Amino acid sequence: MMIRSLPLFSLVVLLAVAPLSDSIEATESRELRFPPLKDGRLVLSVDTHTHSVFSDGHVWPTVRVWEANKDRLDAMAITEHLEYQPNRDDIPHPDRNRAFELAVKENKQGRERSDLLLIPGAEITRKYAPGHVNALFIEDTNPLLTVKHRREETFETARKALKAAKAQQGFMIWNHPAWPRDFPDGVIKISREQQSLFDEGLIQGIEVANGEYFNDSSLQVALDHDLTIIGASDIHGLIDYDYDINGGSHRTVTVAFTNERSVEGIAAALFQKQTVAVYDRQFIGRETELQTLFDSLVRFERLPARRNDSQQTAVRISNAGPIDIELEVLGDVSLNKSAGYVTVPSHGSTVIMVLDHAPSDEIDLKLEWLNSWQAPKTHARLARTL
Ligand SMILES: [Zn+2]
Ligand SMILES: [Zn+2]
Repeated sequence: MMIRSLPLFSLVVLLAVAPLSDSIEATESRELRFPPLKDGRLVLSVDTHTHSVFSDGHVWPTVRVWEANKDRLDAMAITEHLEYQPNRDDIPHPDRNRAFELAVKENKQGRERSDLLLIPGAEITRKYAPGHVNALFIEDTNPLLTVKHRREETFETARKALKAAKAQQGFMIWNHPAWPRDFPDGVIKISREQQSLFDEGLIQGIEVANGEYFNDSSLQVALDHDLTIIGASDIHGLIDYDYDINGGSHRTVTVAFTNERSVEGIAAALFQKQTVAVYDRQFIGRETELQTLFDSLVRFERLPARRNDSQQTAVRISNAGPIDIELEVLGDVSLNKSAGYVTVPSHGSTVIMVLDHAPSDEIDLKLEWLNSWQAPKTHARLARTL
């Protein structure tokens, strides 16, 4: 009724303006960009696992580049299944580097200018151990195709593929290790073959989070076997269909602590295990990397007291990152108007009132970072004296 009574030109203006302002807001809040660490290293967001129609994905590789730019990823790997080619009748795909080449072309000449880094890779896809493994940073994926047909698969041909990747200084990640097909109860048991692949440096990383799955047991394997902690989307459809972006979620990624903004810098960070997986607003990593990341994201600032005899002190907590930080205040510190659970919004701040503290008293804050995991069922803990 309202719309019918409006003159035609204002309807046009409404249609033009309304979706535009929506999309600007959505774009800003979805951007996965992190501030640098205090030691000057960069924190780059990387999706190490994506598919297109060149294996079993549903989109052309150019769409992956557009999506990555929407999320403002720092880097994305192209990792088509080498052996699993369900679109072979339509896309014969004799050169397994083709999806990467198309993505690179789009990134250079496409409709958007961006600073996205593209990482060449492939998903070695085998039935037996090692299962699905992403090989990243390799120049030519074709030599990794060591079987003509999937019935020729053996552990030895799979190992040969990993050796071909290692010969190109590849970094290899065990993908979705707790797959129900392999471990129906979700608890990973490392076989002798799998262990030999770790020992020979043929697998250096492990996905603790893949798409919408996070698995405690894979984090424990990462810690027990000294593997790099990885989170990735493994996107086949569309990011905006698989993730509730407007609800504040984001694709699963890894943040890598790098000395430089380059594919080489990311490779070095992965080999040195300088990573944190970021999955559905949760941070998963080793204790040191979580503490280092927290230091770069969160700032505590004691605000000047309004009155000298005040028995409560205001502390502003700011978050420079793109994801809300959830904290619990521990110890004998009491807060006014708060039960001790504090959300520090992304790119924002919150103020807590600490009771029984005169302006001259030190405050010893002990905190649990509730949306971080340094081991199964274990959050990172932090201490700050203000
Ligand atoms: Zn897979
Ligand atoms: Zn995959």
